[in-house]
Amino acid sequence: AHSANQISAGEVVERPASVVKELVENSIDSGAKHIDITIEGNGVPLIRVRDDGSGIGITDLPLAVIRHATSKISQIEDLNHLQTLGFRGEALPSIASVSHLEISSRPVDEAAGLSLTLHGGEQAELKEIGCPVGTSVTVRDLFYNTPARLKFLKSTPTEFGLISDTIGRIALAHPDIAFSLTHPQQVVLQTTGRGDLREAIGTVLGYDIARQLIPINEQQEKWHLEGFISPPNLVRSSKQAQFFMINGRIVRSPILSRALAEGYHTLIPVKLHPVVVLHLTVSPSDYDVNVHPTKMDVRFKEEQALTQFIRETVYRGLINSKP
Ligand code: ADP
Ligand code: MG
Repeated sequence: AHSANQISAGEVVERPASVVKELVENSIDSGAKHIDITIEGNGVPLIRVRDDGSGIGITDLPLAVIRHATSKISQIEDLNHLQTLGFRGEALPSIASVSHLEISSRPVDEAAGLSLTLHGGEQAELKEIGCPVGTSVTVRDLFYNTPARLKFLKSTPTEFGLISDTIGRIALAHPDIAFSLTHPQQVVLQTTGRGDLREAIGTVLGYDIARQLIPINEQQEKWHLEGFISPPNLVRSSKQAQFFMINGRIVRSPILSRALAEGYHTLIPVKLHPVVVLHLTVSPSDYDVNVHPTKMDVRFKEEQALTQFIRETVYRGLINSKP
C-alpha cells in the first residue's frame, strides 16, 4: 500500500541530511522565526525539528502525510510564481513511509495541539496534546523498513557533517531566522536570527573569515546582488565555501560560479576559490526553475547580461576595497 511512497522516499529522502532539509524547509515555509533541530547519532535514531511557525490546522494534520496533499499550490501555473520552498507534497509522506514519525502541531488560533503518530506510513494514533504554537516533527529509526538504504549510510561523523552543512547553508540563506542544532545534548550551531548576514557567516564559517569579507550591494534595474565576497588572499582549494541564493533559495549554479570566477580573474590562481555568500534577487519572470526533489536547475532569460552584471559587481567590489 505504501510502495509509491517508499519509491518516492528514495528520491526525496536519500539520507538523514535530506530529511533534515525537507523538515526545515517546511518550517521556513510556515513562517517560523525560531527553528531548533535535534539529532541523535547519524540521524537514524532521531531527527527532531521544532518551529514556532503557523502550525498545521487540526483537520489538515492527517492530510499532511498523504501524498500530494501540499497546501502550497492550487494550480500548476503557480509554479512560475513559487515563493515557498516546498510544493510537491511529497516530503512528509515519503519520510513517514520509512520511519516512525510523530508530528505535533498547534495553530495560533487553537488552545491545544494535536499529535499524529505513524509507523512506516500507517497511522497509529491521533490525540490532543498540550504544546506551544508551532510544529514539532520527530523522525525515529529512519529507514528501519528499507535495509538497503540503511546499509548505504556512512558513519556518524559523515552523516552528521552533512546535516550540519545543510543547516549552515540554510542559516546563510535565512539570517532572519534563529537556528539551533543540537547533537547530542550539545548546541553545535546557533544563529541569532537578527538578520545580520555577516554575523550569520561568522557563526557558520568562522568569525575570522567573516571579519575579512568585503560587502557587496549592487542594485540594477532587474537584479540585486547583495552579500559578501572574500579578498583575493582569502581562498580555498574547493568551492565548498561558496554560497549562492536566488530569491532566498539555495542554488548550485554553474552560471553564477563562472561569473564569480571571472570577476576574480587574474586576482587569484585558477585552482583556488574565493569564499562568497551572495544573495541574488531577480524577477521570477526572468528565470526558469526546474525543480527536482533534491536539486534546482536555474536558467536565466538574459544570462549574458546577468553574468556580466555579477562579474563587474564582484570586480568593482574587489578593486574598491583595496586599501
Ligand atoms: P510540501 O512542503 O511540498 O507542501 P510536505 O510533504 O513537505 O509538502 O508537507 C505537506 C504539508 O504539511 C505542507 O504543505 C504544509 O501544509 C504542512 N506542513 C508540513 N510541515 C509543516 C510545518 N513545520 N509547519 C506548518 N505546516 C507544515
Ligand atoms: Mg515540504
